[in-house]
Amino acid sequence: MARMKFICDAERCIECNGCVTACKNENEVPWGVNRRRVVTINDGVVGAEKSISVACMHCADAPCMAVCPVDCFYRTDEGVVLHNKDTCIGCGYCSYACPFGAPQFPSSGVFGLRGKMDKCTFCSGGPEKNGSVAEFEKYGRNRLAEGKLPLCAELCSTKALIGGDGDVIADVFRTRVVKRMAAGKNAGADVFGWATAYGKPNTPAPAAKPAAGGKS
Ligand code: SF4
Ligand code: SF4
Repeated sequence: MARMKFICDAERCIECNGCVTACKNENEVPWGVNRRRVVTINDGVVGAEKSISVACMHCADAPCMAVCPVDCFYRTDEGVVLHNKDTCIGCGYCSYACPFGAPQFPSSGVFGLRGKMDKCTFCSGGPEKNGSVAEFEKYGRNRLAEGKLPLCAELCSTKALIGGDGDVIADVFRTRVVKRMAAGKNAGADVFGWATAYGKPNTPAPAAKPAAGGKS
């Protein structure tokens, strides 16, 4: 069984925010919530500026799941961490526990009322029947049930953001790093969040430098 994961390749992200727009549109995300956002470091510094697209990483040992007092969270057979809005009491504990700032709350409430938590579903809906109106209204589109991957990754124009079976996307990323090293460019081997989310070193990076000019 596949374990679904995201990788964002900082050497390719051009900060176009296409992934953010795709997510908002596909899932009709509530006003004030960004399930995905693009973070830029060294903004404006030539040669040092890098951007990455960040959302829920669907952690292997998810802190949100551990702290939720009403057990809203569950994990699908494909390794996606989902959340039940019917059970959520809006306490906000998950947002404090998450290392990636993924859980968010609609900003339309009055007097600081939080409402139900909302986060990236890896475009795989929620506990309702797959593809139902009720599922769409609460969680957005269930693309996984239709045999499709998340739209953010599918629409990324530079393929910086890749999503899918962790083994497959790690291979894709590893191949890129090897090619960049062979071309004498910055390998960009660090994968943001991978170790935090999956408790391992940045495994997608290659072990050794290949022969110059070698294909992979
Ligand atoms: S769509 Fe791709 S290139 Fe554009 S901001 Fe998102 S990850 Fe970066
Ligand atoms: S990224 Fe945050 S919300 Fe997503 S599974 Fe990990 S702790 Fe939970």
